Amino acid sequence: MTSKPLALYLHIPFCASKCPYCDFYSGRYPAETRERYVEALKEELETGFRSRAFLPPDVYSRPLSSVYFGGGTPSLLGAELLTDLLNAARRRFPVLPDAEITVEVNPSLEAPESFFAALAKSGVNRVSLGLQSAVDAERKKLGRRAGRADAERCVKAAYAAGIENVSLDVMLGIPGQTPASLNETLSFAVDLGVPHLSCYLLKIEPGTPFFKLRDKLDLPDDDASADFYLQTCVFLEARGYRHYEVSNFCRDGLIGRHNMTYWADGEYLGLGPGAHSFLNGTRFFQPPDLESFLAGAPAEYEGAGGDEAERLMLRLRTDLGAPVSAFPEKGNEIAAMERNGLVTVRDGQLCFTDKGFLVSNAVLAELL
Ligand code: SF4
Repeated sequence: MTSKPLALYLHIPFCASKCPYCDFYSGRYPAETRERYVEALKEELETGFRSRAFLPPDVYSRPLSSVYFGGGTPSLLGAELLTDLLNAARRRFPVLPDAEITVEVNPSLEAPESFFAALAKSGVNRVSLGLQSAVDAERKKLGRRAGRADAERCVKAAYAAGIENVSLDVMLGIPGQTPASLNETLSFAVDLGVPHLSCYLLKIEPGTPFFKLRDKLDLPDDDASADFYLQTCVFLEARGYRHYEVSNFCRDGLIGRHNMTYWADGEYLGLGPGAHSFLNGTRFFQPPDLESFLAGAPAEYEGAGGDEAERLMLRLRTDLGAPVSAFPEKGNEIAAMERNGLVTVRDGQLCFTDKGFLVSNAVLAELL
């Protein structure tokens, strides 16, 4: 029997409204559907019948190192239903005493003080808040309803409840964003003292309203987006944040441990429509369709995973890097990348620089 820890992801596919750039699996549903979904998710936690074909017999003896409520907008469920789900997970799996338990939160909460107090009481110890921008005009362009003041109130309410591990999502390349406005957003986040930031470049995904409007959106070009990324790296690193993954920065060693499981060859179980899992060298997922999830549709095979090339690729996304000895035939290419400031070798590990992270896909293609 293995006791290798497992990360648990619970997908909450509900949003109050759909942001025009978002292609995550989520939508607007009435409270009655949300409650039905929570019951179905609890049933899936209990029986695992949708994923049965892929679950190793010992899965429920594996201790959880993290639980992550992602979405969608998990906070839309309210503290009571989130606690209900967390308790269902605790009944089914042993949970490590220091497990990281994260909830993604939209700052448009009506009563953040009581919400975070209830989450903290249930054992949630990390919050990921969708700030995107501290400039309200930019947030509006992104279709976000809450303002900067709401985000600030949420961060302070989380701290007051004892949840100090707060992460803010920041978006780079918002229509009309400028170096000064990005500076304002980053200063806002740092002044709030959050120990973690996830900073993503806006991607215009096919099928979204932004895709249709892309020529009218005043989007930054590739060079300007690259500059926003590098500006972010310089700003945060100068203030003591470690750039530990392409898009993630932390202070005080507070990396996002759940996501690190994905990048550092760990195993995870994802439940809910669109959630992905990796167990025993197999990747599988639950189809991104709420109705079929409610009807009990089985998980589907995605492919074999965890081979050497994939492991190296995922590790290179982080500042752990990958052993330079894993690329015995790439000495010339690596030397050229070092000269161009894209990679560096630290203690035998090949690591991307900030500039290298920016073009990591091209570099990985060359290496692997
Ligand atoms: S709140 Fe998040 S998940 Fe929901 S539509 Fe907006 S970006 Fe997508």
